Amino acid sequence: MSILIKLYNWYICVIKNNMLNLILFGKPGSGKGTQASLIKNKYNLVHISTGDVFRKNMSNKTDLGMLAKGYMEKGELVPDEVTVNMLKEELEDHLPCEGFIFDGFPRTTYQAEKLDVLLSKYSLNIHLTVALDVDNGTLIERLLNRGKSSGRADDQSEDKINIRLQEYDKKTKPLIEFYTKQNKYKSINGMGDLDDITTRIVNLLDNYLNDRG
Ligand code: AMP
Repeated sequence: MSILIKLYNWYICVIKNNMLNLILFGKPGSGKGTQASLIKNKYNLVHISTGDVFRKNMSNKTDLGMLAKGYMEKGELVPDEVTVNMLKEELEDHLPCEGFIFDGFPRTTYQAEKLDVLLSKYSLNIHLTVALDVDNGTLIERLLNRGKSSGRADDQSEDKINIRLQEYDKKTKPLIEFYTKQNKYKSINGMGDLDDITTRIVNLLDNYLNDRG
């Protein structure tokens, strides 16, 4: 698509306020990445996974990748400042577009506040946070299984997975209240058949878009 058409589409989106900026929320292994890949084309959204960007930097051995590696391999969150700067670059690289799916970001209240500030610079905002609810037993089983094929260091042992779940409880869970207060938090059952989960997300988004008119 030519840059002029992209700019025009974006202008129309902003003027009509019909962009869709979505956060896919949930614990590690809840299926955020899988579901983001399945729904992004339907709504014409740019999918930004902070975990994927860090992993790409790790395999390219960039300074950012080397810094992130130490935290990721231990199952800890990468420091906020580093993550927010990286997200800012990713977001600005993809503008103009018709909307974003943020996957794995924000993971702290600091990140959520910075995201709002960054989006407001472009007259944008978060419309919805969709959480995929999955119980811990299922998450651990999914992550250990994924670890067998992905080779991801942080999926290799139950100890590391538990650290990630603790990081979630301590730093990420407060975002439920952050977005609930803004009336932007919805959750769906993230367990069961993959297609059924996608259908639940699509129904939720379609209802939201219909109500918005
Ligand atoms: P994910 O692929 O989303 O499961 O993320 C894998 C790892 O990347 C996390 O355990 C963190 O170490 C790091 N990471 C990804 N996103 C963030 C974020 N928003 N803030 C801090 N660390 C992150």
